[in-house]
Amino acid sequence: MKSHTDYLWFNTQHEHEYINITRDVDVIVKTSGIQEGFVLVSAMHITAAVYVNDAEAGLIADIEEWLETLAPFRSDYRHHRTGETNGDAHLKSLILHHEVIVPITEGKLDLGPWQQVYYAEFDGRRKKRVVVKAIGE
Ligand code: ZN
Repeated sequence: MKSHTDYLWFNTQHEHEYINITRDVDVIVKTSGIQEGFVLVSAMHITAAVYVNDAEAGLIADIEEWLETLAPFRSDYRHHRTGETNGDAHLKSLILHHEVIVPITEGKLDLGPWQQVYYAEFDGRRKKRVVVKAIGE
């Protein structure tokens, strides 16, 4: 079994951003030389998420609005007693989850026709990273 690990770095301009990382993950998979296996894509932070869905601007705006409904910015989160102000970002990360696993088939990401891998940032303007670990043969 082979394994290959790489990292994607982000320093977003905005507090919230949705970044399509499908191509970057695909490049890492091709570099790994793995033909059959899996790739784990995992945000290394507690205020960001990685998910698989459509690369459609209206949907992304809907996701943002939906997350704001479920986990709105509020000043009275208990987490803010630590001096932080990002309680909503932690909750948004929990809703979308921090990682995905994508199959690798014949050396390529085996995604459905509309599936794209996204990095979602909820507490941006700082250095963040995602680990990409491919395993297989
Ligand atoms: Zn925090």
